[in-house]
Amino acid sequence: MKTCAMPDWELLLTDARIATMRAPEDPGMSPCAVIERGALAVTGGRIAWVGAQDDLPVANVATRRSLDGRLVTPGLIDCHTHIVFAGSRAHEFEQRLNGASYADIAAAGGGIMSTVRATRGAPAQQLFDESAQRLRNLIREGVTTIEIKSGYGLETLTEQRMLETARRLGQEAGIGVVTTFLGAHALPADWTGTADDYVRHVCEDMLPALHELNLVDAVDAYCETVGFKPAQVQQVFARAAELGLPVRLHADQLSDTGGATLAAEANALSADHLEYTTETGVGALAAAGTVAVLLPGAFLTLREQQPPPIAALRDAGVPLALASDCNPGTSPICSLRAAMHLGAALFRLTPAECLAGVTHNAARALGLLHDRGTLEPGKRADFLIWDTHNPAELIYWLGLHAPVERYVEGSRQNNLA
Ligand SMILES: [Zn+2]
Repeated sequence: MKTCAMPDWELLLTDARIATMRAPEDPGMSPCAVIERGALAVTGGRIAWVGAQDDLPVANVATRRSLDGRLVTPGLIDCHTHIVFAGSRAHEFEQRLNGASYADIAAAGGGIMSTVRATRGAPAQQLFDESAQRLRNLIREGVTTIEIKSGYGLETLTEQRMLETARRLGQEAGIGVVTTFLGAHALPADWTGTADDYVRHVCEDMLPALHELNLVDAVDAYCETVGFKPAQVQQVFARAAELGLPVRLHADQLSDTGGATLAAEANALSADHLEYTTETGVGALAAAGTVAVLLPGAFLTLREQQPPPIAALRDAGVPLALASDCNPGTSPICSLRAAMHLGAALFRLTPAECLAGVTHNAARALGLLHDRGTLEPGKRADFLIWDTHNPAELIYWLGLHAPVERYVEGSRQNNLA
């Protein structure tokens, strides 16, 4: 006979080593402290219970499995990507290695504008197929939620097609997708000399139209001397606020434009890149609770010399996230696991910071920490089982250790987009 108080669990995993990635009660403790001989229960796509096996309550369990000491982590979250685009810039990569300068390539119509042309010209199915190939790779290595930006259309219809493609990728791949409108990514060639007019068009036409179609979860901009000025970004952010949309910002990547401060003043979810952020910017991010999203793939590809002010960010208590920044120009890196390794190798992040950066803090950067990013009761049952025991292995190796099983909303995934 069934006792009323006894919980019903669809799945119970036992004999697991569980890195919950929840905030440690003692701030001196590692965020990836592992529960030895842990157990995790799932019901209705949500985590029902997690803890030491010895503390397990009595429950009605439909399926019970032992993991023989394998590691369990939250599903990985790639919180900054540009995976939806058409075409390839491999030929430019080759030209540069054969001696051509960025200026030569831009003068020949290359650079971001070649991706804009290819994306504008691609039918929806082609855009989907090319992007799905990249998504498959990210999923294979454990990504269960991804942020995808627009920004290679720079006119309403192509931006719409990009965001629709992002939504469809999420539906067909069965993972979480957060869309970000990045109309203020670059100035299209046909608006040369009229950047203020283009920004007005972004604010008054493109953003409201795409928001109306329910395609925009957040709004981003590229604040840089080669991108948009702080005053122009402020206009985009003001429009986003009117529409009730959260913002994030490409900030201080190539020069100090005060981007981190600008993002913090707008209560941005995240400020991303941050190579040239000053103490003032770091203090502003800390005060606002804005997440610093670090992108070592772009740092590597551009052969940058100045890393973000990691020690200052860490000391100020700014949450640190890591992402692939997968894009065809400055980070042709279709691997969040590579970004984790590069975060350690290039920015000297600890393994615990790298893992928190693609789980807990990545969820926070997307405004989703209440729902995912750690293994805690009530959250989405998005988790990975790894054939290893130590979380540091996942950062230490480049190219080893794919998850042996992936669960999204409590269901074991076999599909690969
Ligand atoms: Zn980016």
